[in-house]
Amino acid sequence: ADKILEVRNLKKHFKTPKGMLHAVDGVNFSIEKGKTLGIVGESGCGKSTTGRVILRLLEATDGDIFFEGQNIREFDKNQMRKLREDMQIIFQDPFASLNPRMTVSEIIGEPLIIHKLVSNKKELSEKVKELMDLVGLSQRLLNTYPHELDGGRRQRIGIARALSLNPKFIVCDEPVSALDVSIQAQVLNLMQDLQQKLGLTFMFITHDLSVVKHFSDDIAVMYLGQLVEKAPSAVLFKNPRHPYTKALLSAIPVASLKHKMDRIELRGEITSPINPEEGCRFAKRCAYVRPECSHGDPALNEISDGHFVACHLVDNLVQNK
Ligand code: SF4
Ligand code: MG
Repeated sequence: ADKILEVRNLKKHFKTPKGMLHAVDGVNFSIEKGKTLGIVGESGCGKSTTGRVILRLLEATDGDIFFEGQNIREFDKNQMRKLREDMQIIFQDPFASLNPRMTVSEIIGEPLIIHKLVSNKKELSEKVKELMDLVGLSQRLLNTYPHELDGGRRQRIGIARALSLNPKFIVCDEPVSALDVSIQAQVLNLMQDLQQKLGLTFMFITHDLSVVKHFSDDIAVMYLGQLVEKAPSAVLFKNPRHPYTKALLSAIPVASLKHKMDRIELRGEITSPINPEEGCRFAKRCAYVRPECSHGDPALNEISDGHFVACHLVDNLVQNK
């Protein structure tokens, strides 16, 4: 298949007064063109950092990032400028990411001016109107300010802005988490329509598994800087194998799941990603933990076609439980 993005052994460590924070700690995955990879995990698991490192908004500590076959960590300034047009980001809180002193048309038009993709005012205004149509924003809103609009409309502005440079790949960082549930579905539908229409590839970051269930082709579950499970979406929901994924799924209201699962409580606190100890990072919270779990980092192994799990005891755990 045609991979648009591949990351290998990606790491992002930060120096902190308490020691090295292993925010992203050896992550591997790829995304096929036109598909959506959901990245799911609790806050602090490194999912947003992964997105920012891939876009080179943060520099990786180690590892490779291939976009359309080229290692973009080696790109110079000129190559990066072009790459900025191909790779975009949609943020969680559209209000925080939009300049409050700019009108809707200025916000959407700004990237076009910075990247010199329009040559005069008329072209700019036509392009802005086109983008507003694309995301379902009325042109009556051209000269309004973000604070005058509701969350759904503000996120549509964020999406229009991200689309203005005609990107191929978009990191969507919790794009509906700040929205009312009733608005979430509208924005998700819009994003799916746009994906089809424009052939976009998405990396969709969320703490909420139910949001990505129907949207993602594949889902990767992240815990303390590492992927613990990755599978086609339907497989992950039907047959979760990592104890952490099981716990996350068991927290989703039963009505939205085919299989009834007993609620698995997550015990204990999230371990610190600062100077992590050897062994499984989920051990302190795992209902199945055994002494051997502290012997080395569990590797992400393929247990069936496209289904990867990082757990020392994966073969001993009961399925569908
Ligand atoms: Fe739980 Fe052990 Fe598997 Fe880690 S390796 S998830 S502690 S069973
Ligand atoms: Mg985040």
